[in-house]
Amino acid sequence: MEATTFQASSLLSPAHRNSTSAAAPRGISFCGLHKHVVTVKTPFAKVSCAQRTQKYDKTISYSSWRVMASANTENGTPPSFDYDVIIIGAGVGGHGAALHAVEKGLKTAIIEGDVVGGTCVNRGCVPSKALLAVSGRMRELQDSNHLKALGIKVTEAGYERQAVADHANNLALRIRGNLTNSMNALGVDVLTGVGTLVGPQTVKYGKIGYPDKIVSAQYIIIATGSVPFVPPGIEVDGKTVFTSDHALKLEWVPDWIAIVGSGYIGLEFSDVYTALGSEVTFIEALDTLMPGFDPEITKLAQRVLINPRKIDYHTGVLAKKITPAKEGRPVQIELIDTKTKEPKETLEVFDDSDLFLFRVLDHES
Ligand SMILES: Cc1cc2nc3c(=O)[nH]c(=O)nc-3n(C[C@H](O)[C@H](O)[C@H](O)COP(=O)(O)OP(=O)(O)OC[C@H]3O[C@@H](n4cnc5c(N)ncnc54)[C@H](O)[C@@H]3O)c2cc1C
Repeated sequence: MEATTFQASSLLSPAHRNSTSAAAPRGISFCGLHKHVVTVKTPFAKVSCAQRTQKYDKTISYSSWRVMASANTENGTPPSFDYDVIIIGAGVGGHGAALHAVEKGLKTAIIEGDVVGGTCVNRGCVPSKALLAVSGRMRELQDSNHLKALGIKVTEAGYERQAVADHANNLALRIRGNLTNSMNALGVDVLTGVGTLVGPQTVKYGKIGYPDKIVSAQYIIIATGSVPFVPPGIEVDGKTVFTSDHALKLEWVPDWIAIVGSGYIGLEFSDVYTALGSEVTFIEALDTLMPGFDPEITKLAQRVLINPRKIDYHTGVLAKKITPAKEGRPVQIELIDTKTKEPKETLEVFDDSDLFLFRVLDHES
């Protein structure tokens, strides 16, 4: 790596060599995720995107030289690193950071412990919007008055649960592939494994419990994102009590779902599941639904997304304890008053009548 780094200086003008600015060298343009990934024009090289790999490496090295020159050791020799930047976590945050680093000419690696795309692509924005697209169509097809006014006849609107789930999953897979390809095309090394900082500029990565590879970088960006937040007292069994990660898989559509938290994620799930036939009960700790929204938007959402649908709600209550259904016992949700902490009521669902209780927890960073 060190050798590659210093080859670069032969490409530099004296002004570039002395530059300490973070800006990309003049003549290097970054064309994003399009077919032509990057174009490099220097007095020394004119490189098309198709020929990119070899010469582009040299261009990256230019900045490597600059970064390392500003980090000389006491005896004046530059320290050597495998990369200018290592990013831990390849969610949308890490991916954006990787693109930006490459744009600035930095030699970049990204370490991912699970799947590229993180929450947004695999368990968040993308599959939830795919399901919302289905729920929107379902509502249109169920709106017989509107259809009649348009002169359209639909005998019965229906859906295939597995096909809907596959649609969301396939979209996530496609976008995950695009993200990976875009990073490969730009020369970002995508390293697989869980990363752990073992020094200020060193990361170990590999299988959980057995990280066996070490890489170093001048800069390390931590972009490890979020996981579902499950408050104490709540037992998740993945079947009768579960998080948004499970709910997106649409493994079944229950008659009734209790959603804890009426933020935008809870609201999206209420939209999807009510369109597919479920009834929803929101449990909200604060005094109003959607407490984090702009009040005007809350009013509109209440009128359009809550009131006309099979949705009821308990506000000002905390779900203190939730116990999944087991051994013939129903799912139980114990509610307490948020302010006084006094017990309020217990909701129970017996699953012998084909009713299940689901819980969708908002994510928390
Ligand atoms: C249901 C749902 C719907 C959403 N809808 C939207 C929306 O419409 N719009 C919006 O803006 N946001 C939405 N979000 C929020 C959005 O998903 C997150 O804000 C976003 O994913 C955060 O991106 P991130 O890259 O910071 O973290 P993450 O996406 O969580 O990515 C972090 C990555 O780091 C990896 N990682 C963690 N630790 C390590 C380690 N030690 N070593 C290696 N890798 C590691 C993880 O495996 C993961 O891939 C939604 C979230 C959910 C749950």
